[in-house]
Amino acid sequence: MSNPLAYLHDQLEEWKRDGVYQRLRILQSASAAESRFDGKEVINLASNNYLGLTTHPKLREAAVEAVKRFGVGSGAVRTISGTMALHMQLEERIADFKNVEACVVFQSGFAANAGTVSALLGLEDHIISDELNHASIIDGARLSRAKIRVFPHKDAAAAGKILAELDGVSGKKLLISDGVFSMDGDIGPLPGLVEAAERHGAIMMVDDAHSSGVLGKAGRGTIDHFGLHGRVPVQVGTLSKAIGVLGGYVCGSRDLIEFLYHRARPFLFSTSHPPAVAAACLAAFDVLEQEPERIQNLWDNTKYFKQGLVAAGFDTGMSETPITPVIVGEAKTAHALSNGLFEEGVLALGIGFPTVAKGKARVRTIVTATHTREELDRALEAFRKVGRKLGIVV
Ligand SMILES: *Cc1c(COP(=O)(O)O)cnc(C)c1O
Repeated sequence: MSNPLAYLHDQLEEWKRDGVYQRLRILQSASAAESRFDGKEVINLASNNYLGLTTHPKLREAAVEAVKRFGVGSGAVRTISGTMALHMQLEERIADFKNVEACVVFQSGFAANAGTVSALLGLEDHIISDELNHASIIDGARLSRAKIRVFPHKDAAAAGKILAELDGVSGKKLLISDGVFSMDGDIGPLPGLVEAAERHGAIMMVDDAHSSGVLGKAGRGTIDHFGLHGRVPVQVGTLSKAIGVLGGYVCGSRDLIEFLYHRARPFLFSTSHPPAVAAACLAAFDVLEQEPERIQNLWDNTKYFKQGLVAAGFDTGMSETPITPVIVGEAKTAHALSNGLFEEGVLALGIGFPTVAKGKARVRTIVTATHTREELDRALEAFRKVGRKLGIVV
């Protein structure tokens, strides 16, 4: 009898031959500046834990307290009986933080994007999307069945041109960009995009997954960074990165949020966060305001580490944020660099096609607020050593 799934095995073998097969690294400690993976203590440059909140005592305490008072699960989806007071408090807290009317929290940033784009747009509508937007935006766009027009990365003029072509064409138009792009660490051209959206009556949507807690006043994100309050009607963020826990959210008008309560499919058909998650997220927003030095440390570390990489001769691409890629070209080289770094006590993962363009494979690094200078120096030394051995730098 033949195995109808045999093609999976063939594909896996091909990936192994091409050197792009990836085994999961197993984390055996907390996610922190230094962590234990696969039995080895390493400097962790592979997390999105920008501010070190995954292990913050106030978040831990809030989570434990919530478990004691409210148990471990919410029992249902939000629209049946799974809306807890904690969920509503968190949504109000985020809306205040982002200076908007209202907020809806989803199980993840992925669910927030996919659920929102597919709920807002339909078959007759148009989505104008940056070519490097996150996979969850792309999936949401496909689910919506709207017509998708992709513009070159960060090219606000090209986005405006597409919108101009659509002037007078029926259907709603959604212009959408990441605030910070997750593979290159560059910032979206929001002022130009917002202007184009306003000129052509399009809905502007920004995904601030990598910028909330990182950019803007007290980490309010790219909309605050560029002074665009009131001009981006659909703002997405995540609770899984700088906030240190899990979840995604959409901020905007009360109408937008109530519409999503009725139509966003992950909200309607997937169980809400456990109370510990909501409580820990609430505590994180307190910490953001009480400990501004965390964001300062994050940027100081970013500058220091990026300068060290550039001085060593590495290509860090277009990065403007704590996401710093080390671009090496071939996926095989990226994985070899990543493996060599691990041997030297540094975790930073190789990323190749199709996550990034062919020939643009890289090892991606993200420093956090809690890395010490000594750790960053050790990581830089490992990069120099392995980079020379592989002929990436001299
Ligand atoms: C990580 C990320 C998401 C998904 O967020 P999760 O909370 O991890 O699901 C969405 N958009 C962008 C741009 C991201 O980088």
